[in-house]
Amino acid sequence: MKRTGILACANTTKILDCALSSCLRDLYDKKGEFARYKGLETELAGIISCPGCLGGLAPDAILAKTHSLIRYGADAIHLTYCLVVLCPYAEKYIAILKKAYPKVEIVPGTHKPHTSPEQTRDAVSRFLLQKLGQNIIP
Ligand code: SF4
Repeated sequence: MKRTGILACANTTKILDCALSSCLRDLYDKKGEFARYKGLETELAGIISCPGCLGGLAPDAILAKTHSLIRYGADAIHLTYCLVVLCPYAEKYIAILKKAYPKVEIVPGTHKPHTSPEQTRDAVSRFLLQKLGQNIIP
């Protein structure tokens, strides 16, 4: 049994109301970064979002939120495709999570890419601009 948790970018979940349908579809179908669990039973431990763009000052909040997933049995944490593509702090967050939870698998990515990273960045920037009047991705 593999219990996976998902860490998403708040710009997509909290601001653009992404329901993570692509991530969940590929989790259930064991595609994309979830293909590694083929042949295993999987369970979703939970979904959390980064607290928002704080100039790279979100690690404490991310650790606290991730802790709740791990407390409830997550043995792998996937950072969403969008987070990996959009967030300038993704590598930093991955390093912090790996250090804090050496026994937990920290995986960059969720669903199979539907577009190139550049196209994803452009699309999300455009949506943020439409919704907020500015593109707040750092
Ligand atoms: S771009 Fe990075 S810091 Fe900003 S909300 Fe997304 S994950 Fe958090």
